[in-house]
Amino acid sequence: MFRFPKFFTNIGVDLGTANTIVYAEDKGYVVNEPSVIAYKNTSTLLCAGKEAKEMLGRTHRGIKVVRPLADGVIADFVAGEHLVKEFIRKAGIPKFLVNKIVIGVPTGITSVEKKAVIESAEAAGARKVFLVAEPMAAAIGVGLDVLGSGASMIVDIGGGTTDIAIINYGGIVVDNTLRIAGDEMNDAIIRHLKNVYHLRIGEKTAEDIKIEYGIVKADNSPATFCVKGIDHQQGLPRQVELTTDFFDEAFSDILEAIINAIISALDQLPPELAGDIIDCGIILTGGGALLNGLDEYIRERVNIPVSKPDNALYCVADGTKLILESFDKYKSVLLH
Ligand code: ADP
Ligand code: MG
Repeated sequence: MFRFPKFFTNIGVDLGTANTIVYAEDKGYVVNEPSVIAYKNTSTLLCAGKEAKEMLGRTHRGIKVVRPLADGVIADFVAGEHLVKEFIRKAGIPKFLVNKIVIGVPTGITSVEKKAVIESAEAAGARKVFLVAEPMAAAIGVGLDVLGSGASMIVDIGGGTTDIAIINYGGIVVDNTLRIAGDEMNDAIIRHLKNVYHLRIGEKTAEDIKIEYGIVKADNSPATFCVKGIDHQQGLPRQVELTTDFFDEAFSDILEAIINAIISALDQLPPELAGDIIDCGIILTGGGALLNGLDEYIRERVNIPVSKPDNALYCVADGTKLILESFDKYKSVLLH
């Protein structure tokens, strides 16, 4: 059957602390880039996304690199506005053709921040802007029935925050946000290498090591790997060989904080919902969930099932997509 092409495009945005993903109806994912902005002479926008992240720690004083959402809140409104506008522009959809935008935002967003996000999406051309809490979007994105009576528990480990939410009847019954997540793992790698091995490395190297070799509770035969950096005392380049046990030591406080935040959320669970969580368990989402062995570790510590969906990195964006596709059905879950 012949269908007229749609004139206007609806857009979904996962405005993450580490990465922003833009989904455009009929096109799919059109942008997936770091939530980073670079300025020239401190206020002129230079670039956004991958290019700006590459500049982290490598630029001279005339260039300022910012991560507007680093701690899960929009710390820098102007940069936040630039980020939203730039990414929608990168999506390649002419401003006058943008219709609805559904944006996933942190659960703890204040009304001032909400206003800033809405205004930047409007400035990017949106006719109507809707906001959804990220864990709610993630739950929809992994295919959970968020509108029904059954409770589900999402633990989203992103860059800046770990967002824990228990959801039913289209609302968030319990939520707990911890300002410790994937970025803190990078910092812990940097700190541990400096304190124990007297080796200095940068943020990007730390993240590369984590993604390539990171593992929680490796089995009896840990793998070895090399790290190159600068000797903290002599100031000369040096490399050290480590085993993957390194991560258990470096991440121990972070893992403890995540477990405590999960336990504290479970502690606030209305008793009638306990059965649902025991049966369905925790759904682990976000980039931090990709750390090897983390799901088994949480399962052992809290004694309930833990699953990691295949789309762990994309589930908030997938949620915005499903909301756009069945807008009337999901209207009640929107924050704005
Ligand atoms: P946000 O929603 O806050 O933007 P993401 O869900 O995109 O965050 O997750 C980003 C975090 O996930 C970063 O700290 C990144 O280093 C981490 N990450 C991505 N891939 C992996 C991996 N394979 N193993 C461990 N951590 C990962
Ligand atoms: Mg996220």
